[in-house]
Amino acid sequence: MSVTAERVFERTVCVYCASSRSADPEYRRAAFRVGEVLAEQGIAIVYGGGARGSMGALADGALARGGRVVGILPRFMADLEWGHRGLSELTLVEDMRTRKHLMLSSAQAAIALPGGSGTFEELLEALTLKRLGLFLGPIVLVNTRNYFDPLRALLESAVHERFMDERHLDMWQIVSAPEDVPGALAAAPQWSASARSFAAV
Ligand code: AMP
Repeated sequence: MSVTAERVFERTVCVYCASSRSADPEYRRAAFRVGEVLAEQGIAIVYGGGARGSMGALADGALARGGRVVGILPRFMADLEWGHRGLSELTLVEDMRTRKHLMLSSAQAAIALPGGSGTFEELLEALTLKRLGLFLGPIVLVNTRNYFDPLRALLESAVHERFMDERHLDMWQIVSAPEDVPGALAAAPQWSASARSFAAV
């Protein structure tokens, strides 16, 4: 009897990205590549479980390289057949809040790729939890087509206008290419629950 050694995925990152199929194809190519890069590094992915747009491309890229991809999908989206059918694991949950919580709490880091309101909401919640010392991992934004430049400017403006502290600038890293993600995850400044002491400026 032959025994196939299972690859061990010791780290998991949560990836937020677009469901859109209409955005520039470069976004889907970058998502596919992020999936490949993470799988090659032996990093498992937890994401929203969708089959469409950048979400589907991300999962396809990782699965093509033997990666582990866990989807967390609200039941109503599964009923609409929005779920990816080839994932390593698909968890169905009752609502969006449970999904968002489970996605981030299953991971040691978060990555955001360009997306719409859903991506913004997830990313900004991760940043807010980090500010409060409730999530301590790296948060990496992949700036395909310079999409995140206005958000970067807005976050920096929040610091400049004293809605946030200068130390909060350490909460996120912005990279230009999928290949830069592993380096950014490794180089992210340490963060601890003591961040709570400067959460309010
Ligand atoms: P958006 O960037 O607005 O397309 O929203 C994408 C994010 O919201 C993803 O990270 C998902 O968690 C969630 N989401 C929104 N639409 C869908 C969908 N059709 N299928 C799966 N997840 C979705």
